[in-house]
Amino acid sequence: MVDRIISIAWKKWRLVFTKDLPRDTVGATDPPTKKRKAIRIRSELVGQEFLDTFLHETHHAGNDTINEDYVSQIATDQAEAFCKPDCLSRFLTCPKIESMVREILDNS
Ligand SMILES: [Zn+2]
Repeated sequence: MVDRIISIAWKKWRLVFTKDLPRDTVGATDPPTKKRKAIRIRSELVGQEFLDTFLHETHHAGNDTINEDYVSQIATDQAEAFCKPDCLSRFLTCPKIESMVREILDNS
């Protein structure tokens, strides 16, 4: 899969989906001062676990001084709240998102 460049808090990061992470690690974020810095997310994650990890790692990217417990808690809370039917339906019924979801499902 091709890396994509994402912007987090005015800085550019490579978003990499990979199996190449330490055992029991689902994501990792390079320090914001690193050249060609990356946010790495374990490639087999899906659904709420993927969202939790994505939010967790992008919180670190945006502010690498915030407390690990806070990052873990807010990412887990956000992912859990988002994955409830009322939020998911508002997200998925957006015509642009719905079109992307249909294309993804058609190609899988
Ligand atoms: Zn963390």
